[in-house]
Amino acid sequence: MDPARQSSTERWREILERSLDCVHCGLCLPTCPTYRETGREISSPRGRIYLLRGVAEGRIPLAAAVAEEAYLCLGCRACETACPSGVRFGSMLELSRAEVEVAQLRSGWARRLEGWALRSLVPHRRRLRLLFDLLAAVQRLRLDRLARPLLPRRLRELHALLPPIPPKRDRRPPPEIVPARGERRGRVGLLTGCIAAEAFGHVNRATLRVLARNGFEVVVPRDQGCCGALHAHGGDPETASELARRNVAAFGRADVEAIVVNSAGCGAAMREANAWIGSEAEAFAAKVRDVSEFLDAAGLQPPGGRFEARVCYDDPCHLVHGQGVAEAPRNLLRQIPGLKLEPHDDPAGCCGAAGIYNLTHREMSNAVLDRKLRALAAADPDVIATGNPGCLMQLRAGAARFKLRARVVHPIELLDAAYGPDA
Ligand code: SF4
Ligand code: SF4
Repeated sequence: MDPARQSSTERWREILERSLDCVHCGLCLPTCPTYRETGREISSPRGRIYLLRGVAEGRIPLAAAVAEEAYLCLGCRACETACPSGVRFGSMLELSRAEVEVAQLRSGWARRLEGWALRSLVPHRRRLRLLFDLLAAVQRLRLDRLARPLLPRRLRELHALLPPIPPKRDRRPPPEIVPARGERRGRVGLLTGCIAAEAFGHVNRATLRVLARNGFEVVVPRDQGCCGALHAHGGDPETASELARRNVAAFGRADVEAIVVNSAGCGAAMREANAWIGSEAEAFAAKVRDVSEFLDAAGLQPPGGRFEARVCYDDPCHLVHGQGVAEAPRNLLRQIPGLKLEPHDDPAGCCGAAGIYNLTHREMSNAVLDRKLRALAAADPDVIATGNPGCLMQLRAGAARFKLRARVVHPIELLDAAYGPDA
């Protein structure tokens, strides 16, 4: 049932039902980043399931300690991959966070700012564009660097995450239809995202070029919008459902065979849109594909150029755990002449970005990130590739802090470079 329309009783009943799938085996514990950092059972998947089941059964009060654990969890879903019993922890987490919000267990200015940004800024393209115009101007005039020492700690940390904002001309929306090149193999839609459309427009343009080079006509519906993932993860199923409905309608009108997404977090959320809004999203959810999965299944046209580099691929949680896509990006990268794919020791561990977790839980986020950075530092690649905007920002900030020489890019940028400039 649509979580936005569920009563509290129905949500807790669903949480209880899902919690009964857990057989307490503990196989998920070593994969959980918060358990790995704290060693506390309560901060493990099994501990959280026990806690939520206790609330659902009325044995434990829904109070601050439950709220704290619900939000200390990164929502990375590594526990789902490890679980032999099929526990759907991600959905339990979303339901429990919605209840934490109903009970108003989170407060303070940061919570109010988060709520305002998610409801009044992120879903509104014009307002976002204005904000990014302002940020681009501030960066161009280097005012951010001048003001940095005077900023409060939280804002300094936010500044470290912010990528260079492209000038306005490079943030223009892409054409509504990009024709296929060569033999036409199909017609697909592209989700351009909300924040990603402003900060990572170059990744969208690279995706369009690579899809066109592979014979796909690409439709970029003008009336598409934010996928609603941040809202669903932040306990706001109403806004998440509203946003999902907008995209179902926009891509429905576009009449495409697949909806291609280059952001793992958005893709995972869109694939589950039917869990939010029911059968009206079934056809939509079934068409959603990560760009790597889509191209790998379609059969990649061999790139003509070379890209000489040692590359470490890092799995975004919402691609490997949320969508079960691990091999496709690696398969594509292996087809780039000159590129050497290097392993590292923590590819499927969370990077600590987790939506806005790196802003709300800075210390835990950094501790989780540092584990990954140590693994990447040991591999010492030329390039780190990962397919999610939040992970790109987090890994770039971390790589700078660890003084790694590697560039951090989206895998589609490497493919695009290997195809060479458009004729
Ligand atoms: S979602 Fe991630 S952080 Fe949360 S309990 Fe599962 S493994 Fe741990
Ligand atoms: S692996 Fe699954 S069944 Fe085992 S403790 Fe974790 S959630 Fe429960």
